[in-house]
Amino acid sequence: MKKILMLATGGTIASRAGDKGMVPQSAPPELLGALEKFREYYDITYKVILNLDSSNIQAEEWRLIARSIYDALPDYDGIVITHGTDTMAYTASAVTFMLQNLHKPVVFTGSQIPIGSPLSDAQSNLATALAAIDHDVTGVTIAFNHKLMRGCRAVKVRTMGFDAFESVNSQNRGEFFADGIRLVTERFPLRGERCELKSDICNEVFLLKLIPGTNPEIFGRLRGMGYRGIVLETFGAGGLHYQRRDLSAPIKRLVDDGIPVVVCSQCLYEKSDFSLYEVGRKVLATGAIQSLDMTTEAAVTKLMWALGQTSDLEEIRKIFATNFAGEITF
Ligand code: ASP
Repeated sequence: MKKILMLATGGTIASRAGDKGMVPQSAPPELLGALEKFREYYDITYKVILNLDSSNIQAEEWRLIARSIYDALPDYDGIVITHGTDTMAYTASAVTFMLQNLHKPVVFTGSQIPIGSPLSDAQSNLATALAAIDHDVTGVTIAFNHKLMRGCRAVKVRTMGFDAFESVNSQNRGEFFADGIRLVTERFPLRGERCELKSDICNEVFLLKLIPGTNPEIFGRLRGMGYRGIVLETFGAGGLHYQRRDLSAPIKRLVDDGIPVVVCSQCLYEKSDFSLYEVGRKVLATGAIQSLDMTTEAAVTKLMWALGQTSDLEEIRKIFATNFAGEITF
């Protein structure tokens, strides 16, 4: 029987409707009841480490979650983290970078409807997460709607549908069907024997989605506010305007001063390539870093994590040129 730790952090899965809207409960009886049933198959320990709607989960909580996982790793075969769905992809990506060389399964899950409701997807999502550990799906994974996705490739794409997450630019790690499980057995090669906790992270990263006509002054303002890194969601395969409102010049000033600017696409699927068009090449010439086919969530958390490790722009470039856990395709 697999020994599994379940770390609860809140979210809809543990919520109940009240006068102020849905609010998470630390140990809802329906969740404890569900765990009792799963204990027929798994040796489960349940621990509440946070009790938050995931909109309130930020870098401080990522550090706590990563530390709690790291401390428990030697004693368990795998760890399930129940978490709100809204920012789960950010937490799963951040934790992926914080836990280097992760050789055991760490599975995030949650639900679209609270576990106490008859229509809830919580039971099946929990069952999927536990089964991922039973099948030794190592690394950080999100289990949702009978699918397993790499934490650093998952994106929340639906607000109401049960198919709330997609694995973007990377196949699912597994899927559960009535006749069994189809797992992608390929594992990401580890860089060392032991898992290392590297949870330092920088909160001063800004994500800017361009619109046609974005005022170039924004970059100076962001700098004045103390931001140390910027992720830019640009147009299509990779382009931004330089006529009338030249966005390249202020980006170059930031990069020349050692502030990393990571450029990605506003399109959800497929890679960006800033070498294709003149409007992209101009930004490449500034020294901006391409995020290729990374999700925005992965690009943002990778930059936050990179700036937590170093302030040296060349080191940050090297971090972005490294595939740590399957988050990018070179
Ligand atoms: N607002 C909730 C949260 O992210 C939504 C959910 O869990 O599905 O905590």
